[in-house]
Parts: sequence; C-alpha cells; structure tokens
Amino acid sequence: MEITYPFDSIPDGGHAVEVAPGVHWVRMPLPFKLNHINLWVLDDGDGWTVVDTGINQSDVRQYWQQLFSGAMGAKPVKRMIVTHFHPDHVGLAGWFEEEYDIALWMTLGEWGMARNLKLETPENILPHLARFYKRAGFDEKLMAIIPERGVSYPSRITMPPIGIRRIVEGELIEIGGHDWQVIIGTGHSPEHACLYCEDLNVLISGDQILPRISPNISIWPQEPNGDPLSQFLASLKRFEHLPQDVLVLPSHDYPFKGLHHRLSELAHHHDERLDETFALCEKPVSAYEVLKGLFTRELDSHQIFFAIGESLAHLHHLVAQGRLRRYDDMDGVSRFVQV
Ligand SMILES: [Zn+2]
Repeated sequence: MEITYPFDSIPDGGHAVEVAPGVHWVRMPLPFKLNHINLWVLDDGDGWTVVDTGINQSDVRQYWQQLFSGAMGAKPVKRMIVTHFHPDHVGLAGWFEEEYDIALWMTLGEWGMARNLKLETPENILPHLARFYKRAGFDEKLMAIIPERGVSYPSRITMPPIGIRRIVEGELIEIGGHDWQVIIGTGHSPEHACLYCEDLNVLISGDQILPRISPNISIWPQEPNGDPLSQFLASLKRFEHLPQDVLVLPSHDYPFKGLHHRLSELAHHHDERLDETFALCEKPVSAYEVLKGLFTRELDSHQIFFAIGESLAHLHHLVAQGRLRRYDDMDGVSRFVQV
C-alpha cells in the first residue's frame, strides 16, 4: 500500500481537527527549520488526555490555554502522556502539571533523560563535549563553536514533574473506553513510547515513524559508544504486525496510511547510507571526514551537530556488523577503516 495522506487541512495554533473518533490533531510552532509539531488530544470520557506537550515557549502555552478554555473547554485535562524526552515533546510537561494539576505518564528511560538534561550546566558538560567532538575529528574552527553554542536543552523545557506514572512495553492504557497499547521504539531516543489503538485502528507514532523525513538516529555525548541504528532497525519490526490500513499519527508532517511501505523505506534508506559510509572508509578516516563525504551540501553550525551524530551512528553500526574497525589514534581522534 502506497503512502496516502487522508487529511489536507492543517489545524492552526489553538485549534484541533478530529482525525478519528475522539482523536484530535493539534499543531504547535517550533523555533527550528522543522517549524511545527503535531500533538494529540484524546477524548477520555469525562476529560481529555494530551499526548505530547510542545516546546517551552509562550505562544505554545497560549495556544493550549486558548484550546482548553475555548473549543475543548467543557471538560478538564485529565492526564498527559509523553512519547519521549526531546524538547518539542516533553517541553511543557512541567507547565501542564502546574496549570492543570495532572500526572505525567512516560517511560522511565525518557523521563530520566529529560530530568538529567534539564539539570545540565555548561560548566559540567563542556569538557565532556569537547572530548567527544575532538574524538569525532572536529577541527579547531568547529571546536570553537562548542562553548559558544552552550547547552540549549534546559531552556527549551520546563522542569519535568518529580515523579511519573511509568508506562512499559505492551501495557494497555484505557482512554475514553478504548485500549491503547504501548509499543516501545528505540534508536531515535532511548525508550520512545508509541500508542496503538486496535478499536480505532490508529497508531500514534511520535518521532519513531515519520512519513517523509527519516527520524534522526545519532550518537550523542551521553552514550558515546552506542549503536542506536541497530536498536532503531530492530524496533521497527515491532510495528510489522499492525494492520495495513492503520492510520499513523506522526509528530511531524501529516497523518498518513501506508505504514508497511514506510517501514521498508526507512530500513532501505539506512542500507544505502551504510554502503556510502563503508565506501568512505577505504583508508582510516575520522567521523568528521566521513561527514564531509556524506553531506555534500553546506551545513550550518546547528546542522553540523546532527550530521556528526548521524555519521557516527552509521560508523558504529558498521563496526557492530564487523565491516569496519575502529581505533583511537595518538591524537585523540577515533579512526574507522574497512576490515
Ligand atoms: Zn524526537
């Protein structure tokens, strides 16, 4: 089944579009090139359950207030479920807790990451970042950006609640008379919750499955030797048993049908990228040298950090497959070479 987009009218700011019975699509602004996030408000009987919260900025808070005092004002907000720790998703969890006095439902891994990074300060993280990016092969010009860039995460989220209602793989959450099953994705973030409702034939996929962009799979300084691509590819298999015509609600772009087509595209995209990466490692090279071969377009100083993370993710996956060997050179830089 090819990918189709059943809805073409985008809800703006403080409005919602019903995409399945009791499932409402809300779209909020983001201050990035990717300028929006989709959030979901589910009819939960005598109230609403919100899935993901938006980034911490005043217009997003105003849109929520507008929505819950206007079109959706007849019932209270009862609970929030957050898919993962990225700031556009968990950003307003702390604010929701205060504003509406509701509990946060989240996986332990994602909540732990959010709390941890919220407490990060430039003083304690910068030496670690410097070592990490030096090891990846950044030159002096790029190394100079690291302290300038500082840490952006803490300002983009409100302090996440001090406790959560933990959700786990396979758990059924009853929302408005329907069971929603938790399916955990990995690779994009450590313990990303997706929600599948068999009754409504709807999958809230978060960032795990997006229709047109490939979810960012990166090595980050918090787990410098990880292999998130193996995790991502393995976790895509957890969605294969879902129906062909399930309506997928992603965090970016439009709701779509054609899940299985998209799953194979995502796996195939990485195969190609892995082959390109492998070809660049005929002689020993740093991750930054590989980045320059993979990304031929000009990258700005924000994009370069995503690009190095992605390059490293492909390199680490090839090492895990036994196709590349990695060694730390005398100059503190890791190099990768074909076996
Ligand atoms: Zn994300």
